[in-house]
Amino acid sequence: MNIIFIAPPAAGKGTQSALLEEHMNYKHLSTGDLLRAEIKKGTEFGTEINNIISKGELVSDEIITKLLKNELTSIKDQKFILDGYPRNLNQAETLNSIFEELDITNYLAIYLTIDEDTAMKRALGRVVCSNCGATYNKYFQEMKPKQEGICDKCQGTLSARSDDNEETFKTRFNTYLDVTSPVLDYYKEKGKLVVVDTANGPENTYTNIEKILKSEDVDN
Ligand code: AMP
Repeated sequence: MNIIFIAPPAAGKGTQSALLEEHMNYKHLSTGDLLRAEIKKGTEFGTEINNIISKGELVSDEIITKLLKNELTSIKDQKFILDGYPRNLNQAETLNSIFEELDITNYLAIYLTIDEDTAMKRALGRVVCSNCGATYNKYFQEMKPKQEGICDKCQGTLSARSDDNEETFKTRFNTYLDVTSPVLDYYKEKGKLVVVDTANGPENTYTNIEKILKSEDVDN
């Protein structure tokens, strides 16, 4: 069962994806990570993307869809998670066509819910490993690294994302409400949507997702 995560910023899509990769052998495809990799290359294209992301705006559908389709084509024979795509109705329709083209029918859209204040706290406390991409959080005991500023997994350096400041977070959250949340109805109408609350922390959220996936696998 492939997964599409739909959620407000900082709901925990990346954290849940990492747990699914570790325990259930999923391949994690994050459009945000693909864009950040372009920025790291230091090209003109990367600089253009950086300007958009640091304002909390969405990059164009053309750019992101091209990046996504290349990656998806190369991993489509594995169980995958889409994290960060689709982010608007146009992308949801494009994804539907890509799935048809690649003959992908087995998927579920998982909506991770979170209230705005908690999401803001998670965003402002989030630190990411510059080496392996693992995510931690300074404000939540169960997500703190063992040693401040150092990745538990690879000893890499932890730092905040440039778009995890208060102002950019608010723009991203509003963009989510205006542009991304209609995608929920799109998948609901297809009978593909399940809702998972993230209020009780990452472990509880993961347990609920795992239960859903296991029952879907039994049903299919
Ligand atoms: P994320 O890592 O998913 O929080 O994404 C970080 C930023 O990358 C977003 O705020 C957008 O600027 C950009 N981005 C990621 N995915 C998409 C997408 N599907 N469409 C447009 N922009 C995206």
